Order: sequence, then structure tokens, then C-alpha cells
Amino acid sequence: MRTRDPWPVDLVLRRDLVRRGMRLTAPRRLILAVVRDADRHPTAEWVHAEVRRRLPRVSLATVYRNLRLLARHGLLTEIHQGPSVRFDGRVDRHHHFTCSACGRIFDLAEPVNARLDARVAARTGFRVSHHRIEFYGLCAGCLAGRGRGGRRRPRLAGTRSSHT
Ligand SMILES: [Zn+2]
Ligand SMILES: [Zn+2]
Repeated sequence: MRTRDPWPVDLVLRRDLVRRGMRLTAPRRLILAVVRDADRHPTAEWVHAEVRRRLPRVSLATVYRNLRLLARHGLLTEIHQGPSVRFDGRVDRHHHFTCSACGRIFDLAEPVNARLDARVAARTGFRVSHHRIEFYGLCAGCLAGRGRGGRRRPRLAGTRSSHT
């Protein structure tokens, strides 16, 4: 990440926000960038910890409020999983795999089957907007014996933890 020029990203974010009538405040811009860069579908707490490395005075409440706002404007997706809420930088439809051991959520390349919507619509007479299929099991890291370290956060293998 450090090797990449930050300005193009900023310009894209600014365009996205302005198009939705939102101001590009520093916390908002950073929150959006953190979620989009994370490969882990983070919780608000995780985003808060990352954001505070750059903006130490930002509260969890502010982070949470902005996450909800960004999600409401279609810039992020909220994932509700049991009692916890996670956030996804991707807003296109895609499937998730949740590891039952480490709790990480992975994006799958498996294409979303639009014909399923059409089939259900044809059989029921309902209008189907979309469907969700969730996959569960053990991720490759946990299968290899890594990632099970109790309450510890899974290691950010492959994640550019760049927000320093
Ligand atoms: Zn795992
Ligand atoms: Zn996702």
C-alpha cells in the first residue's frame, strides 16, 4: 500500500461521496479506505483500532456511525452474522465463506447464480430481488493448524496492514 500513490484512491472516494451528497471528512475517508483495504470483513472495533492509528481522537461511536452511514449510502455492505455486524468494502453481490474456527469471512469467486432467482420467481410468482448462500467450514489456515489461537485475532496474512 505504501508504494501506491494515495491520491487516486482519494479521488475515487471523494467522487463516490460527493455523488451521494456526503462530505469527505477525514475520519469518513479513512474509515472507508480501511474497510475497502481490509480482506477480512472487519468489525467496527477492528476498523476503530486501525483508524486510531492515524486519527487517535476518533471514537468508536463515530466510527460506527460512519460505517452505518456509508453502508446506507451503498458504499459499504453490512454483514449481519448472529449478534455481530461486520463490514464489507465490496458492494457487488458475492458469496462468503465463514471459518467456524477462526471466524474470518472470505470472499468467494464462485459466481452468483441469477437463474436461481428466476426459477424461484417462476415457481412462486414472487418478485425475487436476490438470494444469499452462505458457506461454512474450516479455512486453509485453520486446516493447516494455524489461526486457532484461542481468542487471538487471526494473523493478517496477505493483508496490507498499511495504516500506520
Ligand atoms: Zn480459519
Ligand atoms: Zn465480502
